[in-house]
Amino acid sequence: MRIINPATEEMIEDVAEDNRLTLSNKFQLLKQAQHSWQHTALTDRIKTIQGFSALLETNLETLAGILTSEVGKPLQQSRNELKGAITRIQWLTQNAEQYLAGEWMKAETNPEEKFVYEPLGVVCNISAWNYPYLVGVNVFVPALIAGNAVMYKPSEYATLTGLEINKLLKKAGVPDAVFQLAIGAGAVGDALLHLPFDGYFFTGSYKTGKLVYEKAALKMVPCQCELGGKDPLYVAEDVRDIKDTAISAAEGAFYNSGQSCCSVERIYVHEKVYDRFVHEFVQEVKSWKIGLPTGEGVFIGPLTRKEQLAVLDQQVREAVRRGAFVLTGGKRPTHKGYYFEPTVLVNVTNDMSLMQDESFGPMIGIMKVADDEEAVKWMQDTEYGLTASVYSSNKQRAEGILEQLNVGTGYWNCCDRVSAALPWSGRNHSGIGATLSYIGLRAFTKTKAYHLKNPG
Ligand code: NAD
Repeated sequence: MRIINPATEEMIEDVAEDNRLTLSNKFQLLKQAQHSWQHTALTDRIKTIQGFSALLETNLETLAGILTSEVGKPLQQSRNELKGAITRIQWLTQNAEQYLAGEWMKAETNPEEKFVYEPLGVVCNISAWNYPYLVGVNVFVPALIAGNAVMYKPSEYATLTGLEINKLLKKAGVPDAVFQLAIGAGAVGDALLHLPFDGYFFTGSYKTGKLVYEKAALKMVPCQCELGGKDPLYVAEDVRDIKDTAISAAEGAFYNSGQSCCSVERIYVHEKVYDRFVHEFVQEVKSWKIGLPTGEGVFIGPLTRKEQLAVLDQQVREAVRRGAFVLTGGKRPTHKGYYFEPTVLVNVTNDMSLMQDESFGPMIGIMKVADDEEAVKWMQDTEYGLTASVYSSNKQRAEGILEQLNVGTGYWNCCDRVSAALPWSGRNHSGIGATLSYIGLRAFTKTKAYHLKNPG
């Protein structure tokens, strides 16, 4: 499998892919090793993962460089991702003992009643490339802490990072057979669905997630899917500072070249502040430096996947054909690399592909609305349900709007952020199940209840 640098289109490395036989052998290793890992003390498993986190920290510059080389995100954003992963691991390791401890429900009675959290067993994690450290850590860290053995399939676009994760987990002390890598693309992912795992944890697109969920259902094992989004942001007329709001919204839409599951993908603005907001927004977008992701001060790098350029192109063309205006960007630059100019479109309607289908690139449609009611109507007009943001100086008003939306996360005066203490979940086409928080720790366990009757 050829690993291509998306900024230069040059090959970085050629990596051997797994096949059904190697995957089956790796599965057997995991199966044999899981039991003794489960019976290693929880505190020791936590210490091992803390060691992994320390290694991420000491190797941060090298790891950031590798990540940037294969996914194309600006180097500073790669560093930020690693720092974010370290913070998440900190929360998970600090809270695991409390939330994975069993509970006595009736300690003094006969029979006594208690329940414990047992690991699922051998779990499979099929992952995405856009934040390989963050979305990886969401799954394999709590899975390992909880006593599972893990088959980790990094995206084919984040293979080198997957190899580094494997190396550092082993260096930190995770037994070799407890964590295995599956290297390859869709066919390797599909092969994993034919092995008898005890749980599937998928991060990726709705299209693939649906396939994974269907196949896992027949096995009657837990399956969680963290999928895409078309996340809306509403700017009410009472925002304290239009410029700050525009800068915050623009960052939320274009950070990592818009390749975040919780990127802002649609913006609705109250008509009273629409013109000023659009002006400030476009000024901000035009101020960014585009270029090689290793370049100083670069905010917009290439897309990771060449195929997405055609999707963006098609979304712009359809929108323009139907009456939208491009205020900036709208096309690919002529130089090498999978670049697309940061693009802002107005005069859009909610039935355009730009406002309905995940763009997953540096592109946004901004639409004028008359009031909160109209904003809610358009925000809800989607098949996705990951996050939604409301910018307003009135908390009650914002919460009132967020309550009406079918999303896993609501933001007031912020966007595009994840907290390790809160469950990360999607509704509808954005997925099923949750990672992070104590719910995300327990997601890798099954409960066992005990009724303990003393014969005396
Ligand atoms: P993708 O669906 O193309 O691929 C995801 C993974 O599935 C990859 O490892 C891929 O090799 C594998 N795969 C592909 N075909 C498969 C098959 N038939 N069977 C089994 N596995 C298969 O998604 P992607 O392009 O890697 O990631 C981008 C998507 O992920 C976006 O939609 C984004 O919004 C979403 N995402 C969601 C979250 C979240 O937390 N909700 C986080 C990150 C990314």
